[in-house]
Amino acid sequence: MIQPQLFDNHGRPINYLRLAVTDRCNLRCFYCMPEEGIRYVPKKELLTFEEIERVVRLVASLGVSKLRLTGGEPFLRADLMQLIRNLRAISDIKDIHLTTNGVLTVPHIDELKELGIASVNLSLDTLDRTRFKTITRRDEFDKTWSAFEALMRASIPVKLNAVVMEGKNIEDIIPLVSLTRAHPISVRLIEEMPFNGEGSHYAKLNWTYKRILQHLHEAFPNLQKQNDPTSATASHYQVPGFKGNVGIIAAFSRTFCGSCNRIRITAQGVLKTCLYDDGVLNIKDLLRSGVTDEELNDALLKAFAHRPKDGFEAETKRATQSVKESMSTIGG
Ligand code: SAM
Ligand code: SF4
Repeated sequence: MIQPQLFDNHGRPINYLRLAVTDRCNLRCFYCMPEEGIRYVPKKELLTFEEIERVVRLVASLGVSKLRLTGGEPFLRADLMQLIRNLRAISDIKDIHLTTNGVLTVPHIDELKELGIASVNLSLDTLDRTRFKTITRRDEFDKTWSAFEALMRASIPVKLNAVVMEGKNIEDIIPLVSLTRAHPISVRLIEEMPFNGEGSHYAKLNWTYKRILQHLHEAFPNLQKQNDPTSATASHYQVPGFKGNVGIIAAFSRTFCGSCNRIRITAQGVLKTCLYDDGVLNIKDLLRSGVTDEELNDALLKAFAHRPKDGFEAETKRATQSVKESMSTIGG
């Protein structure tokens, strides 16, 4: 059967779901969570595997074909590999991707390969063990680096996610990008967003996508712009002769909203049609109230028909004006 294509009220296709399978994490990246952690939701408030599979099946029938599992740290969810196996069986979901900090990933890499995982986004903000510990507040660099090496050996496509932070990892930008000389990876340099779980507002961002690009041009004067895939959030560049590329993600400046194709389901089962909204539909409550597929379908379509046109509009529509969430509940 040909999969339908779903469009929102601004004519943008919706075909990509990012699902947070847990809000728990074994790191405390300072841009994501306070040092003492966040108040995790009780386990029974997380969507069950059956609930996840039902929702994914339903959105797939509406036109979603790409799925990303994220968190929190997805490998802290018990039986994650079983969930991936079950989701692989949903034929309309063509690609399953995973975002992880890598700390618990190595033992699962063969199985990820066998399951045909489309790619892994590995979060690595620095190549320096001391700075890694300062940023994540945990001394786990070696495990994340081992995950990188094992993913390379398994030939699983990898994107390295690095949040660019004044005073924290600016000296790592060029070494991270230099990994693309020998490795066919994409290094993604991400503007820091205000989702650190403390509600502090980033009125001014020092390292905007423009400054990041300028920094790259200074180190690599022959840097070349590449074509960006449809709906990409990253703007791609390559150093001629290097095997991989670099993507700059204007996550705070929000330059890419016009082609946004993604929706999110948080660890608590809440639908977000924009990263900057504060949740537009409580899917978990609906599921647990005994909703039929048809009713859930209608509720989802209604939410997709009221998407804000960009992250700035989404912010103005929030019930609570300032962003207070941790990215670990949203999933990034
Ligand atoms: N724990 C996994 C990990 O770190 O890869 C998955 C969840 S994490 C929330 C997903 C992505 O969001 C990571 O690549 C992380 O760097 C990014 N992220 C978290 N907080 C952010 C922030 N305030 N600004 C920009 N990116 C952020
Ligand atoms: Fe955990 Fe990922 Fe947030 Fe870091 S970015 S605290 S690894 S959820």
